[in-house]
Amino acid sequence: MKKDQSRIIREQAPRSATREHSVPLYLTSSFIFESAEQGRAIFAEEEEGMVYSRYANPNTTEFINRVCTLENAEAGLAFSSGMAAVFASFAAFIESGDHIVSSRAIFGSTHQLLTQQFPKWGVSFTYVNSANIEEWEQAIQPNTKIVFLESPSNPGLELYDLEKLGALKQKYPNVIFSIDNCFATPYLQKPLQYGFDLSIHSATKYMDGQGRVLGGIIVGSQELINKLMFFIRHTGPSMSPFNAWILSKSLETLGLRMDRHCSNALALAQTLEHHDEIADVKYPFLASHPQYELAKKQMKAGGGIVTFEVKGGKDRAFRFIDELEMIRYTSNLGDSRTIATHPATTTHAKLTEDERNSLGIKPGTIRLSVGLEDQEDIINDILQALKKTK
Ligand SMILES: *Cc1c(COP(=O)(O)O)cnc(C)c1O
Repeated sequence: MKKDQSRIIREQAPRSATREHSVPLYLTSSFIFESAEQGRAIFAEEEEGMVYSRYANPNTTEFINRVCTLENAEAGLAFSSGMAAVFASFAAFIESGDHIVSSRAIFGSTHQLLTQQFPKWGVSFTYVNSANIEEWEQAIQPNTKIVFLESPSNPGLELYDLEKLGALKQKYPNVIFSIDNCFATPYLQKPLQYGFDLSIHSATKYMDGQGRVLGGIIVGSQELINKLMFFIRHTGPSMSPFNAWILSKSLETLGLRMDRHCSNALALAQTLEHHDEIADVKYPFLASHPQYELAKKQMKAGGGIVTFEVKGGKDRAFRFIDELEMIRYTSNLGDSRTIATHPATTTHAKLTEDERNSLGIKPGTIRLSVGLEDQEDIINDILQALKKTK
């Protein structure tokens, strides 16, 4: 069998009668039936075939198949955004009275779902703020339906042991183990191989990688994806064919781009680690990271995010951001362009200071999404801004 990179590039929607080389954009809301009998048979699921782009479209199917190839998944579904995917991964399975276990350090909107939306539907949750597997097991209750986590976490870059969590899944086969794998991408980390049921991505980030379109995807077992299919057929959070066409093309360069994101990020982390004006640097592939061994075991490289704390607190962090010349401040990540953010006053502003501390977010913390520019230019921009704000 061919290797990953060849398979992703060569996995393509069936060629049309026009014999195109590169896949066309299928902007069509529905598909014709050749006969009344075919219409009946496709609706009865006796014959396979496209019906309506809310259910499936050649572009979304190609995108899904490529991610399944990358992640060794049986099946998948594409969504209009990462949050549509995260929401569906819960909403398709939970019932009133159910309970969810989740890591504490999760994406802000996912936190809002667990704390504001699902309680209204009678679904409770327990947060685990520890990598200790015993604490995860203790949090599981008889009515727990889903165990959910992100690894590495945002912005603290803490890891959870996927192999140990996979072993926990074996003990609780009826609980769905689900991971938001967006920060690592399927190129760097493949959670299904440890026994996870579902792997979720905001395709908006590294899969697009160029800050253009929104998208989300879930891959996992055929059985769970079938249940999710019912949910999306009838609620409609489908990915647009245009976004799928963009995202599918982007996957052809995901590996190349991730290698460069990771090498740039590691070089930056190593430079900042010994810098006088920096109080702390977090990066999974720095030998000083407390979970360095675990990172090397479950990730191919450290990813594109570096989180560091400038000395001098919020005032210094603000001045530092304002002095950056090339790097811009915007609330995206996983772009070809390097991006700086200040979590304490944006994504995590609504938390109390104690809560922020428990996630490793200090007033001086900067999250950098390291881009694809020349390494020297990224590092020099950071160094000059540190120097100017001394
Ligand atoms: C961005 C992000 C999401 C949400 O994705 P959207 O495409 O913006 O809806 C979910 N999880 C993580 C970890 C993210 O970074």
